[in-house]
Amino acid sequence: MIEMLFSITKTFGFMKKIAILGSTGSIGKSTLKIIKQNIELYDVVALAAHSNIDELEKQAHIFKPKIIAVFDEKKAKELKRRLFSITGLEHIKIVSSIEGLVEIATLDEIDFVMMAVQGSIALKPTIEAIKAKKTIGLANKEVLVAAGDLINKLKHKYRACIIPVDSEHSAIFQCLQNDVNIKIKKENAIKPNSSIKRLILTASGGPFLNLPKEKLKNISLKEALSHPNFSMGRKITVDSSTMMNKGLEIIEAYHLFNIEKENIDVIVHPEQIIHSMVEFQDSSILAQMSEPTMDIPISYALSYPNREKSNIQKFDFIKNNKFTFFQPDLKKFLCLKLAMQALKISKSMPCFMNMANEVLVNRFLNNKISWLDISNKLEKLMSFHSPQNMLDLKDILDVEEEAHRRALTI
Ligand code: NDP
Ligand code: MG
Repeated sequence: MIEMLFSITKTFGFMKKIAILGSTGSIGKSTLKIIKQNIELYDVVALAAHSNIDELEKQAHIFKPKIIAVFDEKKAKELKRRLFSITGLEHIKIVSSIEGLVEIATLDEIDFVMMAVQGSIALKPTIEAIKAKKTIGLANKEVLVAAGDLINKLKHKYRACIIPVDSEHSAIFQCLQNDVNIKIKKENAIKPNSSIKRLILTASGGPFLNLPKEKLKNISLKEALSHPNFSMGRKITVDSSTMMNKGLEIIEAYHLFNIEKENIDVIVHPEQIIHSMVEFQDSSILAQMSEPTMDIPISYALSYPNREKSNIQKFDFIKNNKFTFFQPDLKKFLCLKLAMQALKISKSMPCFMNMANEVLVNRFLNNKISWLDISNKLEKLMSFHSPQNMLDLKDILDVEEEAHRRALTI
């Protein structure tokens, strides 16, 4: 019966056609899991990853996409060779490098692009997807931190729609759905709004929330990679441990919701049940709550403006009967403070900070620098950078290049 429904909806084009960039990562795999649960609604047309062709091959068997992008050219050739010998998969087109990612993000027949590639490499495909007027589920936060002004300018020009996937931003987006002052158009997700007093982003506080400050210098890679509530990619897990993740999210919220910088607050909520809140001018506060799982924001982005059924149990308030809140410790989590400063300064500073952080986290992941070095070196780097206006993509790429070069050698 389900197979018949699947075939009818596919034949008559009722299914949402999906491209997933970063399909082998944490968000990408969760997206595919949700799609599998609603296979009559979604048709996976395109997949993209960096080099994990074993996982891509498995995904190709299950979802039978028309095209796959593998950033690494050698691996792309290897996947092509493998799929060519498998009946039913031999016609899948394989593309590679940044052009391949752009091709996937802009395919004519795609309705929805899940942008779940890790890091600043997502910038070009996101820009091109906007120009192609796609609806984009944006998990990648680095893109907005580096190029929020440009992305917003293009989004309005091309009337593309960006739906936040990051759980805090999805929470805010959901809280804003019923506000009559907010004009949500299909093509243009959200407009600035005077009925909001402030946005309150919640933070788990990461694995070192209760660690005394003097012990920060001994943090190991393994400790930094153990997040209390979420299983995520390595870069974002380290960012969560330094609280840079929350810093990036403040900047992300600033660009997504077009609110004054000083009206975005962060509060530590270790239980991670409230995913963020909106306080309105009349002092009413709306919060979005659920078990801490990325499945819900991913599912909401896929089905927006509808909601699909989930397999998650009814929420147990008695088991989860304690909600606590704390002020973030900016002395202990210098990265959060640096991100707040970067937003205050704006111009090229968030872009510079984002790329420098990406490089420093990578160096930490490769055991080249310590956990504390990430924030200390970042602070030094930011003090050397003179913020400049960034008018176009070239300016952004120049700033990223400078940050990359300096952060590699400091
Ligand atoms: P992962 O590290 O788990 O996955 C990263 C994905 O990006 C992989 O599929 C990887 O491919 C792909 N990738 C990396 N570089 C390239 C490239 N050059 N070309 C094509 N694909 C590439 O990351 P997450 O899924 O955790 O995070 C993805 C994004 O979503 C990040 O920006 C993160 O900040 C954001 N996010 C994640 C959340 C989470 O819970 N995980 C929550 C909120 C936001 P390969 O496997 O081949 O290397
Ligand atoms: Mg988040």
